[in-house]
Amino acid sequence: MIPLSVPNLKGNEEKYVVDAIRSEWISTSGSYVNRFENDIKKYLNVDNAAACQSGTAAIHLALKLSGVSVNCEVIVPTVTFIATVNPVKYLGAEPVFMDCDDNLNMDCSKLEKFFENECVMTDSGLKNKNTDRYIKALIVVHVFGNMADVEKIKELTDKYKIKLIEDAAEALGTYYTNGKYKGKFAGTIGDFGAYSFNGNKIITTGGGGILIGKSSEDIKKAKYLSTQAKDEELYYVHHHIGYNYRMTNLQAALGVAQLEGLEEFIEIKIKNYKLYKSRISNIEGLTLLEFNNNARNNHWFYSLYINNNGLDRDELLKYLLKNQIQTRPIWKLIHTQRPYINNEAYKIEKAIKYYNRVLNIPCSTNLKRENIEYIISILEKAQ
Ligand SMILES: *Cc1c(COP(=O)(O)O)cnc(C)c1O
Repeated sequence: MIPLSVPNLKGNEEKYVVDAIRSEWISTSGSYVNRFENDIKKYLNVDNAAACQSGTAAIHLALKLSGVSVNCEVIVPTVTFIATVNPVKYLGAEPVFMDCDDNLNMDCSKLEKFFENECVMTDSGLKNKNTDRYIKALIVVHVFGNMADVEKIKELTDKYKIKLIEDAAEALGTYYTNGKYKGKFAGTIGDFGAYSFNGNKIITTGGGGILIGKSSEDIKKAKYLSTQAKDEELYYVHHHIGYNYRMTNLQAALGVAQLEGLEEFIEIKIKNYKLYKSRISNIEGLTLLEFNNNARNNHWFYSLYINNNGLDRDELLKYLLKNQIQTRPIWKLIHTQRPYINNEAYKIEKAIKYYNRVLNIPCSTNLKRENIEYIISILEKAQ
């Protein structure tokens, strides 16, 4: 079976993990945690980072530090993994769902219309006229590692004075090559950026995440909250309710080794994407979705798009599986998931179309050329 996405652990992973074990520092203290934070800061060219147990934890902390609380609202995309949205509910706040564009990222023109037509600026902040709730933040997701239009989105969040959180869980390594934010990485433009190092992400720590923030004060607070909000170590004094969200040294040891391989992983991902792309363009009824051409995207996941009157998505999935090729539809849209069916969803149209017609195809960095040739030959016979 050719799997959809598996980790690549051929570098210094074993060496660093064994080193961490021999040092006997395996929990949340230990040199690899700081080293991992420093390596990520250097790579992203940012000043502040807090390593966490997961990307979900990083998003939760970002929302908390953005002042999101009971009965506030947060704007989110419907095309995302549910971990973008659940932390909104952890805080007792409510999501408002936005549609996607042809890149599967948040549709900025619809977002702008939503602000103009459905919201009103008040002395206490931006208010949603439909729900009478205040909107505190927006989470933009760089779907499948593809740079979202953060330039436009930041203009809007600045104008309406709400916090901008980038869910860059899938987008480590993606940066702008053009425009106002040329050279800036996905996740470093908003007030906060959250990355994930879950098993299937471009680099992995088994499970893990990191929170980036514009304000050093915020990231200091994130570290405090992620270690149970300890105000006094010896006597266990706590003035606030914290979380057990800090990354362990074992995870960080893996992360340091994985980060060493990141640029090579991205090169392979881009090379394989180009091979798939050129060959699939000859297959009637199928195309690969494009990446943002103002960015060097990490090309984490590839999206096979099934044209209008072509094949049925689920039949194609089953046919590929029968031929030992694992694929996956994009996530069931979050505004249609049971916990969220009563939340506002603003004019969702494109997301439904793409949900019905996209399959993610194998994209691991250890794919061999003959694997890709084989997948293409099976796709050619799918008609
Ligand atoms: C993976 C992912 C997350 C969650 O990260 P975890 O580390 O698994 O908690 C959040 N958002 C998106 C878009 C993701 O792909």
